[in-house]
Amino acid sequence: MTLPVPRLGPYPERPRAYPPDQPAHLPIRPLWLCRACGLPWPCAQARLLLKAEYADHPVDLAVYLSGLYHEATHDLFRLNPHEGPTPRELFERFVAWGPYRKGIVQNQ
Ligand SMILES: [Zn+2]
Repeated sequence: MTLPVPRLGPYPERPRAYPPDQPAHLPIRPLWLCRACGLPWPCAQARLLLKAEYADHPVDLAVYLSGLYHEATHDLFRLNPHEGPTPRELFERFVAWGPYRKGIVQNQ
């Protein structure tokens, strides 16, 4: 019996640069700092652009963010196992702000 090979997590390639001639708000790995503004990724601008890009595809955004949460946990825990962000902090940063927050689900 052959088990399926786990796929690699998503590559952080969104949001696209906007305006197109400006640097994209994408993370520098393994630090997960924004290339454009230097803030922890996803920065406010990246979140704004992601919400706009995925406005019609909230499930895709939730899956993308959850995948990057896994990737970032992998990078940041190896980078700084003792003083890095906690799992809760990373979850808040990557996943909790996105679609399917409890409040949004309750309001549907
Ligand atoms: Zn940024």
